[in-house]
Amino acid sequence: MNSIYVDNNATTKVDPKAIEAMLPYLSEFYGNPSSMHSFGGEIGKKIKEARAEVASLINAEPDEIIFTSCGTESNNTAILSGIHSLPAKKHIITTRVEHPAVKNVYENLAREGYRVTFVPVDRYGRINLDYLYDNLTDDTAIVSIMWANNETGVIFPIEEIAKVLSEKDILFHTDAVQAVGKIPIDVQKVNAGMLSISGHKIHAPKGVGALYLRKGTRFSPFLIGGHQEKGRRGGTENVASIIGLGKASLLAMENLAIKNSKTAQLRDRLESEILKQVPNSMVNGDKENRLPGTTNISFEYVEGEAILLMMNELGICASSGSACTSGSLEPSHVLRAMGIPYTAAHGSIRFSLSKYNTDEEVDFIIKNIPPIIEKLRQLSPFWHENNQAGTAQAKSA
Ligand code: PLP
Repeated sequence: MNSIYVDNNATTKVDPKAIEAMLPYLSEFYGNPSSMHSFGGEIGKKIKEARAEVASLINAEPDEIIFTSCGTESNNTAILSGIHSLPAKKHIITTRVEHPAVKNVYENLAREGYRVTFVPVDRYGRINLDYLYDNLTDDTAIVSIMWANNETGVIFPIEEIAKVLSEKDILFHTDAVQAVGKIPIDVQKVNAGMLSISGHKIHAPKGVGALYLRKGTRFSPFLIGGHQEKGRRGGTENVASIIGLGKASLLAMENLAIKNSKTAQLRDRLESEILKQVPNSMVNGDKENRLPGTTNISFEYVEGEAILLMMNELGICASSGSACTSGSLEPSHVLRAMGIPYTAAHGSIRFSLSKYNTDEEVDFIIKNIPPIIEKLRQLSPFWHENNQAGTAQAKSA
């Protein structure tokens, strides 16, 4: 059975063109880019090309790109660099809905004695900007706010936030792992000091990422070692994956608007048909301001995990909450921060589409979700308790 993969916020299929670009660097061209001989030196040139390709994806200068191992490393590097560069400042700000790669770093720093402000979001996952601005102080070392949320796809007003913070001369980092390659990003218009990128979210391989570091931003490396990345990140480069990330960056920019409109059309059809056919279902997040491929739908009075298992039997791969929190039965911290009631948060499914999804796949999901939910609800005492009409319907069936 072929899988229908609608879990692209968890990871993406590597583009065959990226694989093709990488393959020679996993076989014949295995030199170390730091070597003096030309066998290695030639590889250094390819890394330089890849750096320019990744930079062009966000309209940065090539020297402003530092290759890392993943989005998590980029986030850790940015936040820790921010506080180490300003050791006298003891206040840091983020939101309540960050990915664990930011959230857990902030929680660790809170345990180390930092005063942390977690900015709340509203019912639609929109950030409370007044709360953010009211909490900025002379003691604030860094503000880290994601560009787009991995669970709901909600996009934050990063350009505006960056402007306010740069006027106050406060360092700003944005975790743009879910936004880069999916929506246009131009760091000439967005005055962020640092921005995180992850390869495997944009059809490059896993195990490679990048950190954009604006020229002139104070920096303290996270991985200390050799002189790689101009001393900003030690460790022999993951050459093939860096080349794959370069290629994937070029591919992401190709026809972005056309790809996005197709993906958004598929997502919108999937969403509206499910809402039409399944009672007590609702979309979580600001529908007007979302990534084109993401929808997070709650099905009241059923468990997200049970839905996932039944979808899995049909080959449909989606996610309940963040991939990193699946396996735990606690509703996601993002949905809780949005104030989604437990009865709905427990039954939330994230569908995240990519350029590879088709109309036929969406038809298949639309056909199969309503009977799955109906079946699970018939087994759910909460559904019967809370929905007498549903019970009556089931009895007469
Ligand atoms: N930030 C966000 C918003 C993410 O969605 C993810 C991965 O899901 C990460 C960071 C972590 O990226 P990586 O898996 O490359 O470490």
